Amino acid sequence: MDKSRIIVVGGGPAGMFAALQAATGRHEVLLLEKNAVLGRKLKITGGGRCNLTNIKDKKEHQRATVHNPKFLYKAFEALDPKSLIKHFEDRGCAFKLEKEGTVFPKSDDSSQIINILLKDLLDHGVDIWYNHKVERISVKDQKVQGVVLTDDREILADAVIITTGGASYPQTGSTGDGYIMAKDLGHGIKKIKPAITSFEIKERWVKTLAGISFTGTRVRILKMNKLQESGELLLTHYGISGPPVLKLSSYINEINLKENPVTVEIDFFPEKGEEELKTWFLDHSRGKKNLGSVLTEFWPKKFIEEILPFLGVPKERKMNELKKKERGKVIGALKGLQLTVVGLRPVKDAIVTAGGVDVKEVNPSTMESKKISGLYFAGEVLDLDAITGGYNLQIAFSTGFVAGNAASGKEEQG
Ligand SMILES: Cc1cc2nc3c(=O)[nH]c(=O)nc-3n(C[C@H](O)[C@H](O)[C@H](O)COP(=O)(O)OP(=O)(O)OC[C@H]3O[C@@H](n4cnc5c(N)ncnc54)[C@H](O)[C@@H]3O)c2cc1C
Repeated sequence: MDKSRIIVVGGGPAGMFAALQAATGRHEVLLLEKNAVLGRKLKITGGGRCNLTNIKDKKEHQRATVHNPKFLYKAFEALDPKSLIKHFEDRGCAFKLEKEGTVFPKSDDSSQIINILLKDLLDHGVDIWYNHKVERISVKDQKVQGVVLTDDREILADAVIITTGGASYPQTGSTGDGYIMAKDLGHGIKKIKPAITSFEIKERWVKTLAGISFTGTRVRILKMNKLQESGELLLTHYGISGPPVLKLSSYINEINLKENPVTVEIDFFPEKGEEELKTWFLDHSRGKKNLGSVLTEFWPKKFIEEILPFLGVPKERKMNELKKKERGKVIGALKGLQLTVVGLRPVKDAIVTAGGVDVKEVNPSTMESKKISGLYFAGEVLDLDAITGGYNLQIAFSTGFVAGNAASGKEEQG
């Protein structure tokens, strides 16, 4: 081996960016990807539109990071959202800002991001080996020697960057391989948990209404008062989903929900006060219409047919016969329907995997392992995760950027 070699294991956003940064010309850079294409998960991000990052400042990115935000401080210094956007703008990609600071390519097409990365990698002479799965990392005297492929072939390297992603959406190639590689080398792995995922709900009637959605709700986890998020709520065949649920899920994934269920409270009309609703009901109390048909002002018909029996209020009840207690139950449900969360969807169906390589054993300035010299980590394989909003891709790009620079010795040159 004449030139020194850097191997990057996994061609997702973290791996592609790491390989690109490492390709200074002084090293041979080899990117090993087990799929036949790069960035299979990146392709499906943001519903195929790629929410690349969030325009909010570094503080907000730290706040949105659920586990180990402090570890990311230096990585965000090295590559912040504006620098990431500029990187792609300089290569011809225009961006647009959407709600809550989210940033998408104007083309609404994640392929544009992947194509830019791929062209850059080839222009910088990065050797890409598709359909090559790394089985393990070879190490001697606590120093990286190279990688071993599934066919037992060993490829020597001076540095190896593990960017194999998490264990979510395994069909994209992220099957948790990096956790096993790191564990074999003595790294601690923080328990893998689903993050950004839907709630499984105990109440059966909810699950019969899959597909119904409600805009502008406020969802709150009871007894954890700060845990509340707003947005569209979606009923699914296992419970509830939608942006507020996905955000909240990342904060309750440490709880054994089967044994200790939590109660979620849904306010369907956060902008309306209880008094306002009471007045509305009183105004409509003289009519002979059924409660069920009057309530279509607030809820879809199918939902009303299920929720009224759940509340123990007959849907045929005439408005002029509605009892005070029944009115109270309906208003109570409009302002705070309580459901029991008995689980989260499994890791494989979650948008992001929480847990992973313990960041205490990784240098935040270089992403190098503190245990094995020449071994680096970047992206979701690390115990880092954030809520929805483009924050997770920023983590992948920023940590990949740092690892690639450090592995190539760039950071030593200042
Ligand atoms: C449906 C969905 C939508 C999302 N949308 C967004 C969004 O809009 N914005 C956002 O910020 N985040 C989003 N995310 C999260 C984001 O995609 C991930 O956090 C990010 O892709 C992690 O990047 P990574 O490079 O660490 O890992 P990955 O993207 O998972 O890439 C890992 C790569 O390593 C390869 N690999 C794995 N094991 C091996 C091995 N043994 N040998 C060789 N190669 C291997 C895999 O094939 C894969 O290509 C979304 C996730 C999903 C599932």
